[in-house]
Amino acid sequence: MKTHQYEVLIVGAGGAGLMAALYASKGARTAVLSKLYPTRSHTGAAQGGIGAALGNAEEDRTEWHTFDTVKGSDYLGDQDAIEFMCEAAPGIVYDLEHMGLPFSRNLDGTIAQRPFGGHTNNITGKPVTRACYAADRTGHMILQTLYQQCIKHNVTFFDEFHVIDLITVNGATAGAIALELSTGELHIFHAKAVIFATGGHGRVWEITSNAYAYTGDGVAITLRRGIPAEDMEFFQFHPTGIYKMGILITEGVRGEGGVLLNNEGERFMDRYAPTVKDLASRDVISRAMYLEMKDGRGINGKRYLYMDVTPETVNKYAASDGRTRPDGTPFVVTGEEILAKLPDIIDFCETYLGVNPVTQPMPVQPTAHYAMGGIPTNLRGEVVIDSDRNIMPGLYAAGEVACVSIHGANRLGTNALLDLVVFGKEAGENAAEFSKGISYQTLPDDAADFARQQFDQLRNGSGNEKAADIAKEMKEVMFDHVGVFRLEEGMQEAVEKVSELKERFKDVRIEDTGDRYNTELLNTWEIGNLLDLAEVTAVSALARKESRGAHARDDYTERDDEKWLKHTLVWLHEDGVELQYMPVTFTKFEPKKRVY
Ligand SMILES: Cc1cc2nc3c(=O)[nH]c(=O)nc-3n(C[C@H](O)[C@H](O)[C@H](O)COP(=O)(O)OP(=O)(O)OC[C@H]3O[C@@H](n4cnc5c(N)ncnc54)[C@H](O)[C@@H]3O)c2cc1C
Repeated sequence: MKTHQYEVLIVGAGGAGLMAALYASKGARTAVLSKLYPTRSHTGAAQGGIGAALGNAEEDRTEWHTFDTVKGSDYLGDQDAIEFMCEAAPGIVYDLEHMGLPFSRNLDGTIAQRPFGGHTNNITGKPVTRACYAADRTGHMILQTLYQQCIKHNVTFFDEFHVIDLITVNGATAGAIALELSTGELHIFHAKAVIFATGGHGRVWEITSNAYAYTGDGVAITLRRGIPAEDMEFFQFHPTGIYKMGILITEGVRGEGGVLLNNEGERFMDRYAPTVKDLASRDVISRAMYLEMKDGRGINGKRYLYMDVTPETVNKYAASDGRTRPDGTPFVVTGEEILAKLPDIIDFCETYLGVNPVTQPMPVQPTAHYAMGGIPTNLRGEVVIDSDRNIMPGLYAAGEVACVSIHGANRLGTNALLDLVVFGKEAGENAAEFSKGISYQTLPDDAADFARQQFDQLRNGSGNEKAADIAKEMKEVMFDHVGVFRLEEGMQEAVEKVSELKERFKDVRIEDTGDRYNTELLNTWEIGNLLDLAEVTAVSALARKESRGAHARDDYTERDDEKWLKHTLVWLHEDGVELQYMPVTFTKFEPKKRVY
């Protein structure tokens, strides 16, 4: 078996992994392993923007960004980490600009900004223009810019290397095991520090905006190595996915003045969030949409609503809201302006729906979008392994796979891209520094056994279950019962169903016995990961008897700070799931009821 040695090993080449690589490589011998070619990572799909209080169009302050994020998190976010991120935001956006990121511009040459849900002027309560963007391709530009920087700085990449396991020795990190897609060979990567930056796990749900690769590998691998996951019950449903397909229509559409309409042509967000309306936080809007559809006001009685960004509608509501441009003139848009600001969205709708958003409304429904939970970390990117916040030496996580926790119970739009770059950099720098002070752990002889064992079972299983059938049943039960709204019985049913599916998964046998490009083997292994994530998600959700952020229960409709203002930690043992709780870190902000 081939063995490689690097001081810092980064698993994942999205925004978080590349940022970590760029900074780690300045101080340590660094390699990046990625199951995808780096520029195919999901960061490239991010559309709307990256949040930073630059104040280019109007007054803005980092303290407002901090408070909005705390409030958006429904007070579950750790306030020290949120302060750190929002204060770092303007500097890091300028760093990206200096690296060559082609942001959209204002006429005076400064970085253009647009409003986004939950971001407000804390004095007036009105939406503020805080999202820096590159048309509706912000993530694509971040990914390309960072990849170019990594190539320039000679970072070593192992593309299409699928990490299967983490190597640990006496509670410390020693490396990772990866399968090379083109040969089917297992490789040992001996390392002093490992950074997981593997992205999210939205493929647990039937309707999702997430890439096929979003199978939660990082969380599944660390759970199997005895490391807990944090706040897994909090999974964000974005209000505007294309009906039935889940493909994302960015919140930037509402930032540009688009409104949601029901079957009666009513702008229903007026009733649910009278101040910020269509720019309320995502959990609030997804729930409002669910209630509209439940009460029969879906379009033609179906499970979708309209997102309308035609100039006629935008101008009508901008006038009634009294919305103005930064220079005080009334906010009026033309079809050409919409086309220039949202080119990809218009392209998606024409391709997938045959609908032109400049002249017609788009059919939308909430879509599983973002994992607030993940591998617990502190604000240095170090992985936390218990409720006293002890860490595992040499192990780091950053990006969507990690739970710092910035986003608490609900993430604000534009804060994920910010989280990637801020904490990707932290993890990279700190891992490099850590690796300077220590020598390599001695590798155990059986380092690759657990990885090999997992594949042997899939290759040589005797049963005739099909992984795709199991995945389909999991996605349906999770979408129906551990989705936008939740009930005790439904979640109980999901817990039982997932545990039955995990039993059936033991009887899965793949058909492709080859070594080269055996994507069937890897996709089946990924479904095993999704099942583990579904299980810890459903169990964590069932236990939390309150409604907070994205976790909304019909049977416990109120937030309960007395009992539940705490993070969930979940372990996956051989004999089932264990839950513990960890205090939330407060600095300035006392929990208040959220009003939008
Ligand atoms: C459609 C869409 C639009 C979005 N728009 C916005 C937005 O406008 N603003 C915003 O702030 N956020 C947005 N988000 C959220 C944000 O884009 C993501 O949370 C973020 O890009 C995740 O970045 P990451 O670096 O953590 O993971 P990714 O970019 O997904 O990268 C994960 C990497 O891990 C690798 N990997 C995974 N598993 C393994 C394994 N087992 N072995 C080896 N490698 C592995 C993959 O190859 C990949 O390189 C959006 C998300 C989606 C889905």
